[in-house]
This record gives sequence, C-alpha cells and structure tokens, in this order.
Amino acid sequence: MTTPPSNSHLLVRALSAAHAAVLEHKDEIAALDGAIGDGDHVFNLLRGLEAVLLERESLTQQDLSSALRSVAKKLLESVGGSAGPLLASLFLGMAKAVREPVTPLIFAGMVGNGVEAMCLRGKASVGEKTMLDVLIPTAECLSELAQEGAPLEVALEKVRQTAHTGMLATRDMVATKGRAAFLGERSRGVIDPGARSSQVMIAAICDVLTPSTAPV
Ligand code: ADP
Ligand code: MG
Repeated sequence: MTTPPSNSHLLVRALSAAHAAVLEHKDEIAALDGAIGDGDHVFNLLRGLEAVLLERESLTQQDLSSALRSVAKKLLESVGGSAGPLLASLFLGMAKAVREPVTPLIFAGMVGNGVEAMCLRGKASVGEKTMLDVLIPTAECLSELAQEGAPLEVALEKVRQTAHTGMLATRDMVATKGRAAFLGERSRGVIDPGARSSQVMIAAICDVLTPSTAPV
C-alpha cells in the first residue's frame, strides 16, 4: 500500500502546476498588463513561483502551516510589484487558519482567511478590477460547497467556472485600485492581468486535485 501524499506534497504539486499554467499563458498576461499596467505582472509572478519551487524539497519536509508561511516569505522577497505583498498576505492568511486534519471546511476556511487578509492588505474588494474579482467569489464558492458537502469533482468544476466568470467580469470594469486605476475609464475593455493569472492558477490547481487526472 502506498502512503497518500502529505498536504505539503500536495501544496508543492499545486504550486508547480500553477507555475506551468502561468508560463503557458505568459504572453497573453504580459499583453494585458502592457495594456493597463506596466507589463511586469507575469514576470514578477514567474520569478516568485520559480523561487518558491527551488525550495520544494524543504517545503515537503514542513507541516502545511509552516510550508505556507515559507511560501509567503519567498513570494514577498521575490515577486515585487503590488502582487508580491498581496500574494504573501494570501498565503500567510491561509497558514494561520490551518487545522489538522484539513477537511473541506477547514480548507475553505483557510482560503477565506487568506483572501480576507489580501483584501485588508490591498484595501480592495469586489468590483475594483483586480485579482480579488476572481479570489473573493472563488473563496465564497468554496465555502458554500464545503458546507453542502459537495462531491470533489462537482466542487472543482464549480470553482473553475466561478474563477472564470470572475476573470471575464473584470473586462467591463473600470479599475479603482492599482496602476490601472490611473487610466480611469480607459481601463475598461481589458481583462485585469492579476485576475487572469489567478484564474489560470486556480484552473491548474483544480486539475491537480481532480481524482481522475491527479498524478499518482
Ligand atoms: P504593479 O502594479 O505594481 O506593477 P503587478 O504588476 O505585480 O503590480 O500586479 C498587478 C496586479 O495586481 C493587477 O492586475 C491587480 O490584479 C493586482 N492589484 C493591484 N492593486 C491591487 C489591490 N489594491 N488589491 C488587490 N489586487 C491588486
Ligand atoms: Mg505591473
């Protein structure tokens, strides 16, 4: 009988899949940030994820809360821009809400706490054309699904769809936070780069967690 992967191994798999997905969408995300920002978002993010993944061996040796704290620290040091401190807050918020065993309700609580920490750090909420337009509805959806006790595959599909809808909704918004806010009305018509990178990462993480496609 093989031992199931630890939560920290799963975290590393999820981050590795997120990195691969961002790399695959690099040019598209760079073009979005070029249109309404300064073009660096995807490169900042890739640098951060690469720095985190260099520590994969050490991360898998840590318990989940410590591993999430280590990821937050690495992202803070390596991402830069607005996204660095925001992503660090997300991971630190998640770390603080870890309780073992990590049930669906605990996991949803971790994501909720992380997203709340990001809202506080960014002083932002839904409708401001940021990555929070993906992350807030996704966290709410996770919480509802966990309370309903939804089957894993159903839950993952709903999460994928919610993130996708949130990402698309940013196209028609006027940015009121971040660099894009300087453009005012001219920011309308372009998907927010952080919303797109977040959605792409969420979809990749859902693939990792899907039982039929999860690597053994
Ligand atoms: P910078 O604007 O410093 O170049 P990045 O390029 O690293 O920042 O990241 C840009 C992304 O950060 C945006 O697309 C948006 O999703 C997100 N963002 C910017 N400001 C905020 C904020 N206050 N709250 C949440 N997300 C934000
Ligand atoms: Mg930028």
